[in-house]
Amino acid sequence: MPLRLIALFLPIAAAILLGGCATEPSLYTGETAYYGYTWEKELELGRQSDVGIVKQMGLYQDDQLAAYIRELGNDLLAHSAIRSESAPEIYRNTEFTFRLLDSPVVNAFALPGGYVYVTRGLLAHLENEAQLAVVIGHEITHVEARHASKQALKQQIGQIGLIAGAVIGEHVAENKELAREMINLSGDVFQLVSLKYGRDAERESDLHGVEYAAKAGYAAEEGSAFFRSLDRISEKSGQSIPSWMSSHPDPGEREKTISELAAQWRTTSNGQPIIGRERFFEKVDGLIVGENPRNGYTDGSRFYHPDLAIQFNTPQGWTLQNESGAVYLTDPNRTVLVAFTLAHESSPLEAALKLKEKLSLETSYAQDTNVNGLPAYILEGSVTSANGSLQIHSTFVQHDSHVFTFLGYGNGATFSNFQSLIRGIPGSFQKITNPQILNVQPYRIAITPAERSASFKELLPGRLPPGTDAQDWAIMNQLDLDERIERGRLIKLPAQIR
Ligand SMILES: [Zn+2]
Repeated sequence: MPLRLIALFLPIAAAILLGGCATEPSLYTGETAYYGYTWEKELELGRQSDVGIVKQMGLYQDDQLAAYIRELGNDLLAHSAIRSESAPEIYRNTEFTFRLLDSPVVNAFALPGGYVYVTRGLLAHLENEAQLAVVIGHEITHVEARHASKQALKQQIGQIGLIAGAVIGEHVAENKELAREMINLSGDVFQLVSLKYGRDAERESDLHGVEYAAKAGYAAEEGSAFFRSLDRISEKSGQSIPSWMSSHPDPGEREKTISELAAQWRTTSNGQPIIGRERFFEKVDGLIVGENPRNGYTDGSRFYHPDLAIQFNTPQGWTLQNESGAVYLTDPNRTVLVAFTLAHESSPLEAALKLKEKLSLETSYAQDTNVNGLPAYILEGSVTSANGSLQIHSTFVQHDSHVFTFLGYGNGATFSNFQSLIRGIPGSFQKITNPQILNVQPYRIAITPAERSASFKELLPGRLPPGTDAQDWAIMNQLDLDERIERGRLIKLPAQIR
């Protein structure tokens, strides 16, 4: 009796701490389990966060490739537990969204409620469709097993937005809410994406990932070769382990388990399992590799955005972060932040008035002006909230049909030290006229038959895309540099199409 009482009380205590705890049937057992969010709430979290992900990271612009990911995702989903007849009613009809993100980072992740993402960087590092199937199966499992929701319960992170400050720097710690509103960074997105699930959850995802890939007809043991590459990537980069790798089981152990699991499923399925190398290569031929300079790049202290045909200076020592919807610049101590975005308004004045209203800005300076011959408007002032006050410098510049916003802000005391630097950034804004910069092209993967039998190293062109070396290309091909390639074998080589 007392034992039972304790069991009853614990979830209640958790519920109070979290302001919400859900008891719903587990997808796998049908038995009641505890989650940080209700399934309903997970669907909503996924929907909201997806908007943020797409905005921040951007979708890869290739409809065919996006459709390929979607179709493969849905094919695997059809073999998953969430689509099985025994799945509890609340889960069974959940629609899934499979997206291809325009990021060179090797990554795959899932959000609650049915959102699965892979990056173009991940595709570049895969050798066949079977590997992709295992990765997507793994991510589907994170969703259906509700790992994020379970983790939320464990870590008591039921409240959204607690970590927003961590992304944009400590300087805004006191003004988190305001800062987030200003740069549209949503805390829950960050929180969900950076979640570490723990080893048990990862093992569970590997287990089902292999199962679904095998049931869909794939040679799921191929998955282990990709996990070996992940290991090589993290070894080479030394520090930046892809986020979805960080909490994953020991790669050696993982490789072995995946092969074993795949062998088990093999005995139950008929027919020749699909590896799908050529099919996959056909899809990724021409895929952009590395940073895409058309989306913006830095050369020396100058930032260029060829697609928008604009450029401006970055103060020396500052960090520039180029996201899909915005460019952020911060000083070395992250005392101030300058956000560069596109405004929705049609003139600098209109955009300035909109910002003034949105932030309830107390104006100290407002002036019509021009920047290197382009119409502009400067607006300065401060914003006071319950958490303190922020100093704001904003410049709005018009170029063609676009109005660009430079929004600099920081805390009052230190802001004045940075004023001339902050004003200097929009002051250096100009259109790009140099055709070489305007027409710069990204590097792409060219699926190429080896022109002769030689080591992989010898088959690489003399000039590799900036930021990559021979070893990177070997990893991308899941080969060793000295590995012998027979003439005619398809390999991934860099190409720049002008
Ligand atoms: Zn995982």
